[in-house]
Amino acid sequence: MWGMFSIWIKDMLHSRRNKMTEQPEKIRTWYGLTGTVIIDDGLFHRSGFGKMVILHPGLVNWLLRQQLSKADRKMLTYRHEWGHLQTVPIFLIYLLLLIALQWESLNWLFIIAIVVVSQALWELVSELSVFMKLRKSYVNIYRNKLMNPIIFGLIMMGLNWIYWWKILTGFETLAKI
Ligand SMILES: [Zn+2]
Repeated sequence: MWGMFSIWIKDMLHSRRNKMTEQPEKIRTWYGLTGTVIIDDGLFHRSGFGKMVILHPGLVNWLLRQQLSKADRKMLTYRHEWGHLQTVPIFLIYLLLLIALQWESLNWLFIIAIVVVSQALWELVSELSVFMKLRKSYVNIYRNKLMNPIIFGLIMMGLNWIYWWKILTGFETLAKI
């Protein structure tokens, strides 16, 4: 398992340009499960494990890939979805941590907030894995539009920052604002 993880990290750190267009539907994750990612041209795409391949709207991908060529859009979307599958453990650990910290006072408001911020972190690490993999190519693709992923990253971090700030300072102060 750790061997697979280190291969994935090494793979991410050394961008391999010639592999950019390869988009196999099934890939083995570093933690051993075989994931499926299917990217169509539409707004929806499918990803998951085994029989649990979920059709979902690619809202983040749609927003992030505005003004890009069709080929770049598809390649980055594929890598982002693949990043989601590779970072499922990070997402789950973070989600469980947030639930555990609020366990005593868990209500619907908290559940919604936890779902939003854990998803935001997941989006951030997935896109970060795309950047780590492609580096220069990523910057080249976004040449005049680099603000798009930067603003996206700031919003995802901002949501988490607000949540943690409120956790640490108490949610009562939120009502006073
Ligand atoms: Zn995403």
